[in-house]
Amino acid sequence: MKKQKFETQAIRNQLERSQYLEHAVPMYLTSSFVFEDAEDMRASFSEEKERNIYSRFTNPNTTEFVEKVCAMEKAESGVAFSTGMGAVFSTFAALLNSGDHIVSARSVFGSTHTLFTKYLPKWQIETSYFSVDAPETAESLIQPNTKMIYAETPTNPGVDILDLEMLGALAQKHNLILVIDNCFATPYLQNPIDFGAHLVIHSATKLMDGQGRVLGGVTVGQADLIREIYLFTRNTGNSLSPFNAWVLSKSLETLAIRVDRHCASALQIAEFLETHPKINWVKYPFLKSHPQYALARKQMTQGGNIISFELKGGLEAGRSFINAIQMCSLSSNLGDSRTIITHPASTTHSKLSETDRLAVGITDGMIRLSVGLEHPTDIEADITQALQF
Ligand SMILES: *Cc1c(COP(=O)(O)O)cnc(C)c1O
Repeated sequence: MKKQKFETQAIRNQLERSQYLEHAVPMYLTSSFVFEDAEDMRASFSEEKERNIYSRFTNPNTTEFVEKVCAMEKAESGVAFSTGMGAVFSTFAALLNSGDHIVSARSVFGSTHTLFTKYLPKWQIETSYFSVDAPETAESLIQPNTKMIYAETPTNPGVDILDLEMLGALAQKHNLILVIDNCFATPYLQNPIDFGAHLVIHSATKLMDGQGRVLGGVTVGQADLIREIYLFTRNTGNSLSPFNAWVLSKSLETLAIRVDRHCASALQIAEFLETHPKINWVKYPFLKSHPQYALARKQMTQGGNIISFELKGGLEAGRSFINAIQMCSLSSNLGDSRTIITHPASTTHSKLSETDRLAVGITDGMIRLSVGLEHPTDIEADITQALQF
């Protein structure tokens, strides 16, 4: 049969039916699985047989979820985790040794940054950073002990774009593992493996669930690397629960249709914000004014659902705007069906010094908007009334 399209695979790549011929996939809430006899037990534990033994290792629901993500990312294999940070940490811990070095973009998710600065140094793993404004400097940071290049694109919360093809070529030239956190784009808008990434990480908590219900994470990519990450996870226990895997797998059935709507609304709202007199600048990958618009068009099929913009009037304006919001949620999550507004300078990034904040593009008046699935007219109306401060 002809290779199915993304949407079809997301719906039809499902577990085999049980003896009950159920239509929807059942939830396998079981901690362990039974053996037929002594020989079955021996063969299962020695991995001669591929089968479920214990849900910390594998479970039918987590396997179904991982296989769907692998098909979406064109990856050989994958591992699921209890959270996105579980995926990020386990990928580092499984593949890096004491004395190794990482080259990373400076703009990465806050907790990933904390791993680089606080936890990985405990095992003598150091990280050097390149700025998203000067990605060509990444090569000069490579040392004899460098093992990995790490980046997110689009970045959080600046919505900058990094050149995946350039990073892929750099990793190949120096024989490094390229790891891309593809959370903001989702596999529907961008496939980093096409550009040379060896591993792709997702916080499934965001657009994959898309309805703010469960936490989850996944790393997919090259099979030999995934095998190491799987063994680390199976022994350290940061596995995805079958319940969350079931929710996430169901959510993936609607990923394409949801993300299409998220992106259409986000572009409309970004264009609207650009014309507003109280706003200094708006950043959205598919706005022509975005500094890396051409690059975004090259590696993404649509711009995603995150917009950043700066209010005139700095911190005070940011606080007044947030206080005047009526419908949109004030929350630190993103990629939810509900529109979410965050003021990074007074919340998620308030612990950083002003210099460090500015280094990753977070100004005092900057707002991050995660456009939801409400009607775009209602989102615009709430923002418009809140801008009358
Ligand atoms: C949220 C997020 C993470 C962490 O995911 P959790 O599921 O919250 O642990 C990692 N990277 C990016 C880009 C994120 O937005």
